[in-house]
Amino acid sequence: MEYKGVLVYAEQRNQQIHKVTYELLDKGRQLADQLGVQVYCALLGPADIDAQELIYRGADVVYYIEDNEAFNEPDELVYARNLQDLIVKIKPEICISGATSLGRSVAPRVAAAIGAGLTADCTDLQIDEDRKLIQIRPAFSENILAHIKSECMPQMATVRYKEFSEAKRDISRTGEIIKSSSLDYQNDAMVFIQELSQKKLDISEASVVVSAGTGLRSPEDFKLLSELADLLNGVVAASRPLVEGGFISKDHQVGYSGNRVKPKIYIACGISGAPQHLAGMKDSETIIAINTDPSAPIFSIADHGIVGDLYEVVPLLINKIKSMRA
Ligand code: FAD
Repeated sequence: MEYKGVLVYAEQRNQQIHKVTYELLDKGRQLADQLGVQVYCALLGPADIDAQELIYRGADVVYYIEDNEAFNEPDELVYARNLQDLIVKIKPEICISGATSLGRSVAPRVAAAIGAGLTADCTDLQIDEDRKLIQIRPAFSENILAHIKSECMPQMATVRYKEFSEAKRDISRTGEIIKSSSLDYQNDAMVFIQELSQKKLDISEASVVVSAGTGLRSPEDFKLLSELADLLNGVVAASRPLVEGGFISKDHQVGYSGNRVKPKIYIACGISGAPQHLAGMKDSETIIAINTDPSAPIFSIADHGIVGDLYEVVPLLINKIKSMRA
């Protein structure tokens, strides 16, 4: 059987479909329409996930591997083995997953097991004149955009979250939901992603991000930024040097090698604005920069710039917000 169709891995957490899936469906639908093929979705998880929503968002067929027991523990190997078996069965020509922590863990395992290539962290996908998938991703510290073609089938890629728009919901769309249960993979080595079952920090979802750079002098000073973030119902984040310096954990890092964020408000405190940092936050709706150096590059993309010491400016902002609410 020849390889045909576009398969989107529909990630779910706690039975909620991750929004990256809708972004992948938007792009997957465009690719499939260009190729004249169907869009499949692989939904792996416990019962009662809204599989119909995937059809409303562009899927033609949803393969729902529904198994409370198998997916009770978030074991990435069980996800990978199920996805692998499904791909071998339906033979899609293109497989795309989100470059989330689960996607980054599952997709390479599947690619290695079935002998396919995988391009990680793509920012765009196109079809060329030979019907091949062009996988586009930044390379060499974001200085070039590499266009990568895979010689093997299926052509596999992970795509960064918030890179594409979400597929519009069309409740007149119809499609097929094919249910099955997980095979027994209990003898596989067990690797658990415990954080999936807990409420994990996801700075990509926050509507306000208060971010610190090396202008912050000590880890304790995050208390100041946390106070501002809490008042705005937001989260704290950081540039890479603070993560590498042990000020804060990696899941708070914004940038090329960290998280991509697109909040309503991004407040950059003592961050110079290196390209690798901007890669993770430049699409924020409103950027406010606080920096002592008026020539800091962050000001060139900021909507509002405050030349000043963060240790003076942040307390002023906190007091102002408090007084406005009093
Ligand atoms: P600095 O560049 O040192 O800037 C600190 C700023 O704080 C300065 O502009 C200074 O004027 C200002 N300042 C100092 N004191 C105060 C004060 N009291 N109040 C206000 N302002 C003050 N970086 C990331 O952030 N994320 C990434 O994902 C990332 N990935 C990378 C990947 C690669 C392959 C490479 C090579 C680099 C990567 N980097 C990343 C590092 C990046 O190049 C920069 O080194 C880093 O972003 C700089 O962090 P910064 O702005 O906090 O520090």
